[in-house]
Amino acid sequence: MRNVVIAGSGCAGNTAAIYAARASLAPLVVAGHEPGGQLSLTTLVENFPGFPEGIQGPELVENMKRQAQNFGAEYVHGSIVEADLSKRPFRLSIDGEWVETRTLIVASGASARWLGLPSEQKLIGRGVSSCATCDGFFYRDKEIMVVGGGDSAMEEANFLTRFGRRVTLVHRREEFRASRIMLDRARANAKIEFITPAVIEQVHDLEQGIVTGVTLRNLKTGETWRRDVDGLFIAIGHIPNSAVFKGQLELDAEGFIVSHGGARTSVPGVFHAGDVQDRLYRQAITASGAGCMAAIEAERFLEAEGH
Ligand code: NAP
Repeated sequence: MRNVVIAGSGCAGNTAAIYAARASLAPLVVAGHEPGGQLSLTTLVENFPGFPEGIQGPELVENMKRQAQNFGAEYVHGSIVEADLSKRPFRLSIDGEWVETRTLIVASGASARWLGLPSEQKLIGRGVSSCATCDGFFYRDKEIMVVGGGDSAMEEANFLTRFGRRVTLVHRREEFRASRIMLDRARANAKIEFITPAVIEQVHDLEQGIVTGVTLRNLKTGETWRRDVDGLFIAIGHIPNSAVFKGQLELDAEGFIVSHGGARTSVPGVFHAGDVQDRLYRQAITASGAGCMAAIEAERFLEAEGH
């Protein structure tokens, strides 16, 4: 019987683990299908307080994990594939292995959103990617395209100019969701070309099994045309990893956990932390703060129950 199981090992999960472990609750952290969360897929993080020169995302998240382990947190590989939150203790299946726990902190984050085109899906890993940091290296002197109009798209486009001959940024509107500084940086980069308002209609070439180009459609004029590209990076946001809790925890229409105040979910004893609930801030530091809140609430919940 566990006191605390933490689903997810990003900033939220790791910070919850640090606090729960220091409270002598010996938390079990289920690392999830993307261990380390989104920070493990980024490069330099410049806005996490305490690092005036910035710190590499993977290093930051690994430091958090080591810190939690130093206080007795236990990490296991795998994901929660089934859950019974209908009564306490809660029952969780970690890749088929069932554990029981008095409290659960859901810090399972969010995963990359795709365009949803069949041709895109078939070419993931064959020229279609959602992670510039992971795959940019493969496109040295190649034609690269990035889709999206938020900070992620700007960041990825800038980063990819280190590798590509040219980076084309495609966005469906003429206005951008990205912050002014990120947009200005991308606009000032001579290797980045913008195409707006446009969408990708198809990714080629399914017969060859690799990306050779895309068909674009201008949303204003209706014009369609083909453009040769070698790498296609989709940067259009993320979807919360909450499917396994559907029907058990209150979720909103997009799958984000609905907060019942503080870190509380609709089920007493289950707490939320980070991007699986937060559709607004979604920063490493806010996820860490949420992890801290969830651990403190779990600790108080257990204390009130006499554990
Ligand atoms: P986002 O802000 O939600 O932006 C997603 C973008 O993708 C939007 O421009 C959206 O277009 C577009 N989009 C969504 N679905 C689409 C579809 N099906 N087809 C075409 N385009 C689609 O997501 P994000 O850029 O990943 O950023 C998430 C959060 O992380 C934000 O709070 C951001 O500030 C933060 N972030 C910060 C940094 C940094 O400061 N270094 C870096 C990365 C991310 P519309 O605008 O038309 O809806």
